[in-house]
Amino acid sequence: MKTEYDVVVIGAGPAGSIAARMCAQAGLRVLLAEKRQEIGSPVRCAEAVGEETLAEFIPLDAKWIAAEVDHFSLTSSQRDTVHFPSLETTLVLERKIFDRELAHAAARAGADVVVKARAAGFIKNGTGLEGVTLIVQGVPHEVRCQIVIGADGTEAQSTRWAGLKSVPQLKDYYSAAQYLLTNVNIDQTVCQYHVGWSQAPAGYLWVFPKGNKTANVGLVIAVDPKQTRSAMDFLNAFVAQRFPASSILSQVVGGIPISNVLPEMVADGYLAIGDAAHQSDPMTAGGITNGMRGGLFAAQVAVEALQQSDTSRKFLKKYEKLWDDKFGADYRRLYRLRQAVFKIPEEKLNSMIAQMARLDAKDLTLTQTFKVFLKEYPRLIVDVLPLLLGK
Ligand SMILES: Cc1cc2nc3c(=O)[nH]c(=O)nc-3n(C[C@H](O)[C@H](O)[C@H](O)COP(=O)(O)OP(=O)(O)OC[C@H]3O[C@@H](n4cnc5c(N)ncnc54)[C@H](O)[C@@H]3O)c2cc1C
Repeated sequence: MKTEYDVVVIGAGPAGSIAARMCAQAGLRVLLAEKRQEIGSPVRCAEAVGEETLAEFIPLDAKWIAAEVDHFSLTSSQRDTVHFPSLETTLVLERKIFDRELAHAAARAGADVVVKARAAGFIKNGTGLEGVTLIVQGVPHEVRCQIVIGADGTEAQSTRWAGLKSVPQLKDYYSAAQYLLTNVNIDQTVCQYHVGWSQAPAGYLWVFPKGNKTANVGLVIAVDPKQTRSAMDFLNAFVAQRFPASSILSQVVGGIPISNVLPEMVADGYLAIGDAAHQSDPMTAGGITNGMRGGLFAAQVAVEALQQSDTSRKFLKKYEKLWDDKFGADYRRLYRLRQAVFKIPEEKLNSMIAQMARLDAKDLTLTQTFKVFLKEYPRLIVDVLPLLLGK
């Protein structure tokens, strides 16, 4: 590790590794600093991504693909199931290997990758950002740089050091819990989603196959101070009911912001990407490829900023524009759609899924689904009309 770089990237998750790789490929001197001792571990993810979307970032490789899924299903708490055709093949990854491979690609492009290197604060000159203090193997190091890319995930501190507003309201968090289960007998070609507020209040459950009788089984629930049961309590109840013969290979818990992206993602000399910038989908909380896209956009703007010797907040705002052009309208819609969907009473939801389960696969179009929803719950039109009108 050197004492000076053009760009320091904090965090070697998918977003950080892509940003580091793109900056290094453009000829910049890049440090990718990761606080954990092993990149990609422990895994805090259900590991599902769209194949085509992912292929835009990295050539697909069987060594980090656990399962290929051709469609998804939606099951109600009364166990009616609808099978939806998928728009693209879904891959269930081995993130331990995938994340390491992305960091490896950044290193091959010329970035210095260091593990057990925890960013502990920024070095500032007045308001100007001059570098990062890293604790490497327990020893403090000062690293000078012109740009910092904060890719430090949901627990990000870099956003706070940069002075960004980054704490959403409680209602804009999901609480997540997941087991990697073995001895589960499921169809390995389907990603299962389960809804029903008694099973996962204002959230959903998933069962994603990982091959060899294993699956990621988890859930997200809306954070609610009045709720007395934890996400893990709900997950245990579901697993006991559906997979009584399974064994647990690993478990994760965590919070996921679903607030839509930070109102500001840049400061002088600083860009936030991935979960640090709350770039995960405001409906599903999926954030792997969205964060990678954020990393790509941030790297593009960082390269331009250094070419033009302007790392001011004003210049870096180009990154927010790139993001907003690609995702802004969709994210605003999804944010509101989530609020509308979670207001539907459970018995109505069950009835809608039961009706859709009776339809032929060819009739499962968006229009038909919407008709079923409206028939059961006419109020939905009030909630979603502004979205349909693009407001
Ligand atoms: C239970 C669960 C299930 C999920 N399932 C899916 C899914 O199926 N599909 C999907 O697309 N998304 C899913 N997500 C979301 C997805 O995991 C994240 O959106 C994605 O990992 C974000 O990538 P990232 O690079 O921004 O952050 P992360 O992957 O969290 O990486 C951040 C990195 O920064 C490091 N770091 C933090 N602080 C510091 C510091 N001070 N110094 C140095 N390094 C630091 C961390 O150790 C970590 O390695 C899920 C999330 C959860 C919690």
